[in-house]
Amino acid sequence: MHEGCAVVGIFSREMDISRTSFFSLFSLQHRGQESSGIAVSDGHNIRKHTGNGLVSQVFTEYELDRLRGHIGIGHNHYSTTGTNRLFNAQPITVGSGTSTLALAHNGNIVNAEPLRDELTELGYNFHTSTNSEVIGNLILSSPGNSLEEKIRHAMRRLEGAYSMTIMSKDKLIGVRDPMGIRPLCLGTIDNGWIIASESCALDQAGAQFIEEIEPAEIVVIDDDGKSSFKQKGKRKALCIFEYIYFARPDSVISGKLVYQARESMGAMLAQEYPVDADLVMGIPDSATAAAIGYSRTSGIPYCEGLLKNRYVGRTFIQPDQRMRDLGVQMEFNPLSRIISGKRLVVVDDSIVRGTTTPHVINLLRKGGAREIHLRICAPPLCHPCFLEVDMASEWELIAAQMPVPRIREYLGADSLGYLSLDGLIHATGLPEDIFCLACLNGEYPLPTQIALGKLTMGK
Ligand code: 5GP
Ligand code: MG
Repeated sequence: MHEGCAVVGIFSREMDISRTSFFSLFSLQHRGQESSGIAVSDGHNIRKHTGNGLVSQVFTEYELDRLRGHIGIGHNHYSTTGTNRLFNAQPITVGSGTSTLALAHNGNIVNAEPLRDELTELGYNFHTSTNSEVIGNLILSSPGNSLEEKIRHAMRRLEGAYSMTIMSKDKLIGVRDPMGIRPLCLGTIDNGWIIASESCALDQAGAQFIEEIEPAEIVVIDDDGKSSFKQKGKRKALCIFEYIYFARPDSVISGKLVYQARESMGAMLAQEYPVDADLVMGIPDSATAAAIGYSRTSGIPYCEGLLKNRYVGRTFIQPDQRMRDLGVQMEFNPLSRIISGKRLVVVDDSIVRGTTTPHVINLLRKGGAREIHLRICAPPLCHPCFLEVDMASEWELIAAQMPVPRIREYLGADSLGYLSLDGLIHATGLPEDIFCLACLNGEYPLPTQIALGKLTMGK
């Protein structure tokens, strides 16, 4: 379950579009480390640059200088399949000449395969295996006089998750699927506009947050300013994992600061699973806020028990098996002098396959920890997510395979507590019915027929 990609879009005649796009993508690096790209329009031509690796590796001064214009969109791609294929990097472009569109997409279209077959029969060519190219060609093939109208038609055919930025030679468009599965927000910047997956990108680009783009909304920005087309959404289905893991803690989603939601998850865990212990720590970085919350509520002092090397990117670890095995060890170093002989509460955001946690616990034991009480900010993850590209299938999800006591044993912890669903929802401070909780409770926001189709279809 890995498709937390990032998208950005900027429209301004008073600033350096490519560098602002670059910095926005840079602050959304956590949403995708595999590849990155920026496309810019000067009103006549769309130029783009994409590459594999981190944002700072993909762009040089030379590339940024070359990308001149007043409209830009950008994308960070997240994937852990190891199929690090550059031709799937985004933004993608479709069409030709004055009708060229560039598109950056976060999410997954469940009915992409049948749409692709249909479009291929109509004569549309596909150069990538991305959903995003399907969306792009679907928009081109849709009826309508304006781009907005075409997008609106295309949206009726698309099933699944999409938060997107789309650019024609003279327009920037932001679109969010009718269920609002992935976040997308809007701000102002230097007499212009900026769209980004998370509000932290707006903060760091020096923009002013205006509002979240609503589910089913199409925001169009051009030289005449901003216009918005709101349509009736379906049931809301914001991915709960934005709060648990994907989003950066300094982002605000649905009016809630992610940091505070995580801190409350820790506080709820302390109430649901109290334990006699000496120190509380989080597995960096995603569980830090929750560990602080656990510490405050329990009164057990907080510490950093593991130091994380922030510069270890997934991309470096992947290619080689020995490197993969070393991965956890290269990423974390236990602070033995702090944790030695101590009874630890160790807070983590989530357990998916259960492959990393045993290594982390092992490291802490080697560091001298006497007891390890593992606390997880989410209920057991038992159902695959079909709104993500690389979702784990059921047999890969450890919680779908064994009951909690066996998981505890398998991971090597002295005790294990998963936050209850009620506790989790309470921690967000938001109503339960705005979330997609399918991976936790099996209630999919789309007809299961479609979900199952996706599951059996593979990639
Ligand atoms: P696993 O249990 O699969 O070995 O690893 C789960 C851990 O990987 C989580 O604690 C989380 O920090 C991290 N992680 C990386 N990518 C994802 C993702 O797409 N979803 C979730 N829930 N966790 C992820
Ligand atoms: Mg983790």
